[in-house]
Amino acid sequence: MNVRDSEHMIAELNSKEPYELTKKLDDADLIIINTCSVREKPVSKLFSEIGVFKKHKKESAKIGVTGCTASHLGKDIIKRAPSVDFVLGARNISKITQVIEQKHAVEIDIDNDDSTYDFSEYRTNTFKSMVNISIGCDKSCTFCIVPATRGDEVSIPSDLIVREITKAVNTGAKEVMLLGQNVNNYGKYFKAEDEQCNFTELLQKISKIDGLERIRFTSPHPLHMGDKFLEEFASNPKICKQIHVPLQSGSTSLLKSMRRGYTKEWFINRCEKIRTLCPEATISTDIIVGFPGETEEDFADTMDVLEKVRFEQLFSFKYSPRPHTAAQNFENQIPNEIAGARLTKLQARHTEILDEVMDAQMDKEHMVYFDELKADGKVSGRSDDGKLFYVQGSEELLGKILNVKVTKVSRGALNGTVSE
Ligand code: SAH
Repeated sequence: MNVRDSEHMIAELNSKEPYELTKKLDDADLIIINTCSVREKPVSKLFSEIGVFKKHKKESAKIGVTGCTASHLGKDIIKRAPSVDFVLGARNISKITQVIEQKHAVEIDIDNDDSTYDFSEYRTNTFKSMVNISIGCDKSCTFCIVPATRGDEVSIPSDLIVREITKAVNTGAKEVMLLGQNVNNYGKYFKAEDEQCNFTELLQKISKIDGLERIRFTSPHPLHMGDKFLEEFASNPKICKQIHVPLQSGSTSLLKSMRRGYTKEWFINRCEKIRTLCPEATISTDIIVGFPGETEEDFADTMDVLEKVRFEQLFSFKYSPRPHTAAQNFENQIPNEIAGARLTKLQARHTEILDEVMDAQMDKEHMVYFDELKADGKVSGRSDDGKLFYVQGSEELLGKILNVKVTKVSRGALNGTVSE
């Protein structure tokens, strides 16, 4: 989502005057640090980065801090680091061209409505496009700062979404990634009265776009994974067979205290439904360990879900207490060593599962969409189910979806040869 926000800012800036991206700090006239605030570490990194930028930047270059940390720290960022010229919240990125003009501008209103805002076009990768389908979040997970930084959930009208994807397809994208905090909650909150469309219907509309071949989305919420949605996921040939089902914890009592709205059994049932409807699909997840009150039994439940679902991809984190969240004040905060040991155990077991999953890929064939030229005469792309592939080849492969046979496996990626 932050990558897409950055693209939007670049597009807006470019629509005013031509900007070029640079990798050299002392070349830059404008430095934008687009931040996350989901965990504490990136926030502390921000101030050390500002220090480095201040030291090495061109005298006249401006520094802006944008994104979720900007939303929740606001003007305190400028108080602590006066070299920062402007602060722009995650919900306010459409205002980028205004804030660069004002000294010490702070725009962080989380009620700002960017939902019908038609952003100019800029893509990091020509071959695929990211499109927001909603902004904000309507959940109140007790660990999560996002609702406080991105505001209430608002769905973007479906005709705008279709228009944006069509524009991207006309300029070379065959794949779209639909973005939102809870994509499958799409359609619950429209600003315009007359718009009615749920996520399944949106997927059906989007798949009618000529020239669009692949649809991905992130992230869906386990609570809203009804049968209709999963059936559409399984049966629509344009929808890539990779799905993120963020577990957070396998313990029903912990899920309750996290306010996730589902139980361990519901979660397993939904994953079993996915495996039944669509055996070729890969399932990824997010897990937090060391949430306040997590007992050995609760953690055993998380390990149990890992065993049962055998996620192909795992993003796992130690719980990090955040401002504007209920859980920061919960009793029974878990000591760091215990959380660390649990994280190590979880990741070690997942690595074993992943090794088995990847080893079984040898000699398999996948349709791979090539989208990036790499060093050493290699081109990379992803299979329909999200696996990263490298093949020997040149730019002629870019933008093509080709059959590839796996010749070498490793934990993170597969090597293969294109078969005619
Ligand atoms: N809307 C998404 C969450 C986006 S944040 C969802 O509901 O799934 C991405 C991930 O960061 C979350 O899934 C969670 O696993 C992790 N996360 C969020 N807050 C956290 C915290 N306080 N400490 C550790 N991890 C956290």
